[in-house]
Amino acid sequence: MKELVKLENVSLTYQTKTNETLAIDNLNLTIYEGEFVAIVGPSGCGKTTILSLISGILKPTKGKVTINLPPDKNNTGYMFQHDHLFGWRSIMKNILLGPEVQKSNNQSAKDYATLLLRKYGLYEYKDRYPNELSGGMRQRVALIRTLVLKPKILLLDEPFSALDFQTRLGVCDDVSNILAEEKKTAVLVTHDLSEAISMADRVIVLSPRPATVKKIFKTNLKNYGLPLKRREHPDFSKLFDKIWKEIQTYEK
Ligand code: ADP
Ligand code: MG
Repeated sequence: MKELVKLENVSLTYQTKTNETLAIDNLNLTIYEGEFVAIVGPSGCGKTTILSLISGILKPTKGKVTINLPPDKNNTGYMFQHDHLFGWRSIMKNILLGPEVQKSNNQSAKDYATLLLRKYGLYEYKDRYPNELSGGMRQRVALIRTLVLKPKILLLDEPFSALDFQTRLGVCDDVSNILAEEKKTAVLVTHDLSEAISMADRVIVLSPRPATVKKIFKTNLKNYGLPLKRREHPDFSKLFDKIWKEIQTYEK
């Protein structure tokens, strides 16, 4: 498997006028092409910072971040907790905002948006407005808006945490299916361990701040179906117990 993202001995210190915060300390992590990786760790440990380092928004204070792709501003795409859809723009116009801002070929973006909307059951809503859609549908629209820019790597920063439990389970399946279909590499940050195990190929457990990789767990549940189905597999609860124990040792 091709190494797509590599963080080598990466440290990051935030500097403010009054103090310094060491957020990431000597972190090593490799992400392979086509892989779905989940990062779990306590609140404030540095998860969002890691995504910013991968996207290039932040440069490491020490160490090296390598993305094995030709340089392109659209190599990475983000999905956040809030969908950031604009209420006054239709669904299609929200999806085409990125290409519009980047002044890229609007017709081919529109064709691709149409294809994605059709494929993922949202085409009939293309002329509706965000407030006419459910939370789960809005998150799918947000994902399509990201995909329209054709990123190779999707960075998902707690994208489901604003949704109620029932909706979240459905959206996890939808997002997992879409990312597999579109053959994307994905990095999901979450504090929901079940979500991490059910969606990812590997679960990366971080230490409390400053973040280092504490342990990595392979899941091997992919052939068992979509995330909701994977939760029924006996290995799911075994892994949950194992990783949970690992997280508990934070206190020591
Ligand atoms: P997480 O996503 O795991 O909750 P973050 O990566 O957002 O954690 O933050 C890690 C640490 O860095 C926290 O202590 C946070 O307060 C600090 N931090 C994050 N962003 C900034 C910033 N722009 N300036 C200063 N400190 C920051
Ligand atoms: Mg965060």
